[in-house]
Amino acid sequence: MCGIVGYIGNKQAKDVVIKGLKRLEYRGYDSAGVAVINGALSVKKCKGKVSVLEKKLGTSENGNIGIGHTRWATHGEPNDINSHPHTSTTGKLAVVHNGIIENYGALKQKLQKEGYEFYSETDTEIVAKLIENMMDKNPGLDLEDAVRLSLVQINGTYGLAILHEDHPDKIIVARKGSPLLIGVGEGEMLVASDASAVAEYTDKVVYLDDGELAVITKDDYQVLNSHDIELTKEVHELAVSLEEIEKGGYPFFMLKEIFEQPKTVADCLRGRLNVEEGTINLGGLSKVTEELKNAKRIIIAACGTSWHSGLVGEYLFEWLAKIPVEVEYASEFRYKDPILGEGDVVFVISQSGETADTLAAMREAKEKGATTLGIVNVVGSTIARESDGGVYLHAGPEIGVASTKAFTGQVTVLILIALKMAQLRNTITEEKSKRLIKALSEIPEKIAETLKHSDEVKRIADLFTYAPNFLYLGRSYSFPVALEGALKLKEISYIHAEGYPAAEMKHGPIALIDDMMPVVVIAATNHTSDKMVSNIEEVRARKGRIIAVTSPENKEVKELAEFNCTIPETEDELTPLLSVIPLQLLSYYIAVNRGCNVDQPRNLAKSVTVE
Ligand code: GLU
Repeated sequence: MCGIVGYIGNKQAKDVVIKGLKRLEYRGYDSAGVAVINGALSVKKCKGKVSVLEKKLGTSENGNIGIGHTRWATHGEPNDINSHPHTSTTGKLAVVHNGIIENYGALKQKLQKEGYEFYSETDTEIVAKLIENMMDKNPGLDLEDAVRLSLVQINGTYGLAILHEDHPDKIIVARKGSPLLIGVGEGEMLVASDASAVAEYTDKVVYLDDGELAVITKDDYQVLNSHDIELTKEVHELAVSLEEIEKGGYPFFMLKEIFEQPKTVADCLRGRLNVEEGTINLGGLSKVTEELKNAKRIIIAACGTSWHSGLVGEYLFEWLAKIPVEVEYASEFRYKDPILGEGDVVFVISQSGETADTLAAMREAKEKGATTLGIVNVVGSTIARESDGGVYLHAGPEIGVASTKAFTGQVTVLILIALKMAQLRNTITEEKSKRLIKALSEIPEKIAETLKHSDEVKRIADLFTYAPNFLYLGRSYSFPVALEGALKLKEISYIHAEGYPAAEMKHGPIALIDDMMPVVVIAATNHTSDKMVSNIEEVRARKGRIIAVTSPENKEVKELAEFNCTIPETEDELTPLLSVIPLQLLSYYIAVNRGCNVDQPRNLAKSVTVE
């Protein structure tokens, strides 16, 4: 979850590393640190943001080789001592780490008995001491060999970058379960846990795979597998532009990303829809056409917002392609010894393509013989590389921790896949299919139209900024949207919120309703409209404050609600793409009113690469 950056070349390493860490700060931001070699190894680290660290750096951190880290604490509270880099007893070796060392306790005890002193509460410190121990026992051993031999003793996950004062011409990196890549420059090399940290310096990257270790020098890199055999790795071209990873005049990335959605959904549809012919082209699924046609069951595994888009997928696949669907929390799926068989197709959804639980769920499904398909945003990510096929969102980098454009991208992709499967399986009429495809092609415009009503949402946010609770209700396709709306509010404003299927409210949450309770109802026009009106009446009867997300055509709801967020009409299946927009804006404006750091909400981090 954290950010790792390393640099070796002719520039001041600390400048490149700090700049890179700032770009990665959305991945973890409770503390930060750097290590630089200039004759001796110098380490500076502290609790807080990268900007706090930056102020502490001076000439002793000058040098052309360095590594840095932004932390998302798993073991030990965020404080100066627990911040990375962690060092050897001699202070000559420095390690930054992303992930969790599961057997650190036993290893620590063993090394303490041998006289090694530990200063932090982290699991990471064991890595520095293990390598030191290996070098102490085997004088003359190369740094890379000491790292490789030490890693054999470790259980858990890691992305690691390591520096040693006596080996000032190389950075060693290793990966198991946490992303790492090498940015290949001319006369300089970078390492990072995320491409956005290197995009400014090079567009050539080499992605490391699990079990690999790399020795990086100024002019070259060598990637070795776990048997110490050198590998020839493909050099990928980065498609990330600097503009995409900057705020572009918006106060927060989240707001920029909300307003980007007409474009990101259009990008997601580009080249995939033929409105005249009513066809859908998904290149990433071409190898699994037969599996999709003959699928007996679909399983969707995901976490967080991606799990909510998976729930939208459940309605879509059952409604359009007539296939039974199960939506699983990836973290539960992987540990329940899932029963998978012939005819099962497993979709895994993850913005980053690196989410630890989702990746593990995919590997579990693959091992059990299921067809695994990824729906991810980050091109070249682990899920994208290891799945049997898949569809990219093409939403561009999502930097705000609370996911917005990735959700609409995921839902768009799920609509495309469900339609494609419905066509393959003859479960949809040509007329309906053409109608949906046409409506889908109009969605970017309709998102733009929805965004024009942002002032309306802002006024509601101003009124409810200090509400302690919120309830979100929806039916059918709007139920997952209710969950997503509640999650957004929780994540960035810290207001307690719950999403429920509207009718389920009677079985408990209705007890919470009084004249102080804002109830957001997502009321798209569809076969459940009348029932939704009854649920709204039930809330009104208890004086709940109704905020409706609905179209002007839905007059009944509009009149019953105290407040309205306007969305245009569209086909029922596509409504989540519009109704989620006011909910994203509502949580954003409320959080800003409450003075919250919208892009870096407390305790959260982007790209959850630990279990
Ligand atoms: N487990 C390590 C720690 O708590 C690394 C966490 C991270 O990935 O930032 O320090």
